[in-house]
Amino acid sequence: MNHDPNCLFCRIIDKKIPAALVHEDDHAVAFEDINPKAPVHTLIVPKKHIADIHSITVSDREIVGHLFFVARTIASKKGLDKSGYRMVINNGKDAGQTVFHIHLHLLAGRAFSWPPG
Ligand code: AMP
Ligand code: ZN
Repeated sequence: MNHDPNCLFCRIIDKKIPAALVHEDDHAVAFEDINPKAPVHTLIVPKKHIADIHSITVSDREIVGHLFFVARTIASKKGLDKSGYRMVINNGKDAGQTVFHIHLHLLAGRAFSWPPG
């Protein structure tokens, strides 16, 4: 498994840094964002270190698709099917990406405006 010992999310996956885990399987973890921007703010992260969207290779397609399956499973568990939720990927510096290990933000529990800021 591709892994970067200097990466914050790889360290969380390795349990070297604690996090409030809500899901773990062979390919992904999900944990609560440490600085939540909504009442629900969960991060869905592949176990494989993939820095950003442009680093995704053809062999990563299943892993990346799996992230959405994990997100919908968590959304169901949290009872968000009816109310809705927002999923965000900040990709690259201008989009506000701060951790360069791809992740889905699952945000819910309040109304969100559009367009985003
Ligand atoms: P992004 O800015 O899209 O790269 O998202 C990175 C997210 O990781 C931010 O929402 C941070 O609040 C969150 N974050 C940073 N450090 C931690 C941590 N130790 N545990 C959980 N979430 C974190
Ligand atoms: Zn990583």
